[in-house]
Amino acid sequence: MSELLDPSDTGSDLAFEGALRPQSLEEFVGQPKVREQVSMLIKAARMQDRSADHILLAGPPGLGKTTLAMIIAHESGKPLRLTSGPTIQHAGDLAAILTNLVAGEILFIDEIHRMSRAAEEMLYLAMEDFRVDVMVGKGVGANSIPLELEPFTLIGATTRSGMLPNPLRDRFGFTAHMEFYSPEELLGVLTRSAAKLGISYEESALVEISKRSRGTPRIANRLLKRVRDFALVHGHDVLTLDSAHEALALYEIDSLGLDRMDRSILDLLTGRFAGRPVGLSTLAVAVGEEVDTIEAVIEPFLVRTGLILRTPRGREATPAAFAHLNKKPSPGAAPTLLDL
Ligand code: ADP
Repeated sequence: MSELLDPSDTGSDLAFEGALRPQSLEEFVGQPKVREQVSMLIKAARMQDRSADHILLAGPPGLGKTTLAMIIAHESGKPLRLTSGPTIQHAGDLAAILTNLVAGEILFIDEIHRMSRAAEEMLYLAMEDFRVDVMVGKGVGANSIPLELEPFTLIGATTRSGMLPNPLRDRFGFTAHMEFYSPEELLGVLTRSAAKLGISYEESALVEISKRSRGTPRIANRLLKRVRDFALVHGHDVLTLDSAHEALALYEIDSLGLDRMDRSILDLLTGRFAGRPVGLSTLAVAVGEEVDTIEAVIEPFLVRTGLILRTPRGREATPAAFAHLNKKPSPGAAPTLLDL
């Protein structure tokens, strides 16, 4: 599970997410290229009776990295061990995990860019030669003992592939770049989820949710739950377009799927800073959010939809952002790529 989960997540949201996770590549909606590439890796490994190459899954949270790792394990018929970068702070933590892997096991490390440097270096050797050098003792008496590992497949997930050191990135046989989903793909995710949850709906209600889900299956499923709850409380058996509109308005999700935090950022960039570039840390302080969260969770979608630009001098609002907030663009506002 991603470390960058929404802090408003509740246990029940997570259980709900687990219940909706696709179990096979067949059920995995969208990302056709990644699906085909992964399917090829699994088949090739199976034909040669060896572990699949190490795989890096890169992309914003909620796009299906953990799900894909589970599917790869399932389809290769191998056991899966899940861990995350922030929990691996010492090389010894990683050594304990690696030396306990059984032959062919798949090790999933979420937020792999947040592992400690010492653990990272241990991983290089483990990925390449299935071996670790464990240090025993301290000072002049310290000794390095080489330990053989069972062959395994590492699946790393990261929301910040740019933060991975090159030697680590180079050791993955394949990197999948997960893209935001189109509204049509999200409609596929929602239709599947509604069927699994036994929800009756008007197609238009799901279409509306799909357009407001920030290109992200996790958000689509979460909004489906909010709208379902809203309809339930209002005594409706069927999800209608009206109930979708009302529920999304209640939760302050706008027509593009932007939430309050997205709009606070756009407000600043189009208001106080009116089209001038703003450094990430200034932005983070101004809206009271972590720099990491802005960079990995909030910003990618705003950039993708053409509302903000990342420039070497900072973040800038585009004319599309001014238009979305019904504001007049300042003369200095950055053009969108479409204007260039
Ligand atoms: P990540 O690891 O990238 O943060 P997850 O794999 O945890 O994202 O996905 C979040 C949720 O979104 C999953 O529980 C699953 O229900 C749903 N999901 C993600 N990708 C897909 C997909 N391609 N098709 C259907 N549902 C998906």
